[in-house]
Formats: sequence, structure tokens, C-alpha cells
Amino acid sequence: MQNPEISPRQIHNAENLPIHGNRPSVSQNRGMSLVAILLLLLAVTSCQDNDPTFRIFEKPIIFDEEREQLSLEYMKVRHGLNPEHAVIDPRMIVVHWTAVYSIEETFDIFNPVRLRGRAELQDAGALNVSAQFLVDRDGSIFRLLPDTTFARHTIGLNYMAIGIENIGGSQAPLTRAQLRANADLITWLAGKYDIEYVIGHHEYQDFQGSDVWKETDPEYLTHKVDPGPDFMKRLRRQLKPLEFKSGPD
Ligand SMILES: [Zn+2]
Repeated sequence: MQNPEISPRQIHNAENLPIHGNRPSVSQNRGMSLVAILLLLLAVTSCQDNDPTFRIFEKPIIFDEEREQLSLEYMKVRHGLNPEHAVIDPRMIVVHWTAVYSIEETFDIFNPVRLRGRAELQDAGALNVSAQFLVDRDGSIFRLLPDTTFARHTIGLNYMAIGIENIGGSQAPLTRAQLRANADLITWLAGKYDIEYVIGHHEYQDFQGSDVWKETDPEYLTHKVDPGPDFMKRLRRQLKPLEFKSGPD
């Protein structure tokens, strides 16, 4: 989003520029280069002023009694847990990409309560896949479910993991705005919950056999490539001070 207003800082910068446009001794070239410098300064300051504000847009998917029942069933059958409500105690964040290239199409996939198609997942439970958060390509963050509501997004780890889905995939690499939004969102979540691990979905199988892995069928695994090592490397660079773990102990 472009900010049409010029801030006091920009005006200050403009005033300090040594422009003497009326003096005949200033050559046209020099005049042009000064204009270029002025435009560059305005561009730089306007980028700084346009740093996106961290905000979360609420865009809830259906979470009715049926979805809660299916979530409880999943927690029991897959994770071997018997909680009273389909809530999680978040200790991990799993970053994904959707491999679906629009926010509305993705919403329409996550919104129904029951899984459609995807035979390899249907056998493992009727609960539809989803995630708590969805980040659009411009970095807009949407909350689909409350942070601590159970969502099916990562085998073996859903019971403790908040999922962040990003619009993109191999045909549309995740954007710099999404990187920024993920870093901001994860930092914010870590301020609310005791988050120990931040992983990419492609890394989830590393946890099989560890203390935190809860999946009753050792054969139930799907191969994942999202969001890939490059994005996770850049994200971890931004989150370094928070010292999240990227694998099991
Ligand atoms: Zn994924």
C-alpha cells in the first residue's frame, strides 16, 4: 500500500537537499541527478514509512459442533488423546504453503467441516484439513480459527502445533511480505504461548519417534516439501533472537 501523504521527515529531507534550480550555472545533467537523488530519498523514506502495521484479520472457517466432534475423534484415533474440548496447548509452529494460489480458493478448501477427496487422508479421519492462520501474498494475516483451536495440518504434531499457511507454492515462491508477516506473527504468538519449536512442514518427519510425536499408526506419513529450506532459512534468520528449536531434542 502506498502512503499518499508526505511525512514531516520527508519534507525535512527535501528542504535539506542543496537544490538551487533557479541558478543558471547548474547544468541540466546536474539538475537531473539532483532530481534523481530527491526521488531516491523520497522512495527510501516512503518505504520506511510504509512498514506494514502488524494486524490480524478475522476470517473464521466453520467451527461448529460437528467440527469439534470430528476434531475430538481425530485427537483420539490419531494422537491417542482424550481431551474434553478440541483445544491445543501450543508448543510448536508449523509453516506451510498452500500450493493453491488464491486466498478465496484456499478458504473454500478449509471451510467445510468434512474432508473432500484426498483418499490418502480420508482413511485417517473425516475431519477436514485447515490451519489457524493464512497469510496472503501481500503479507495480510487472516485468522481462520482461534489460536488454540485444534486444526488438522501436520501429522503427529497437530495436538501441540499452530499452523500458518501461506498462499504460494512451487509455481509462486513465497514473498518477502510473507516472510515479514510470518516473522511478526510468530514473534507475537511466542509472546502469548510457550513456543519451543518453529519448523517447516517439510521437516515434520524429523519428529517421528521423538517424545512429542503422537501418531498411533507409524505407517501414516505423507511426504511434504512445503515451504522448503530456503524460506525456513530466511525465517530463522529473522527469528534468531527467540532461539526456537528446529528439530527434536
Ligand atoms: Zn503443509
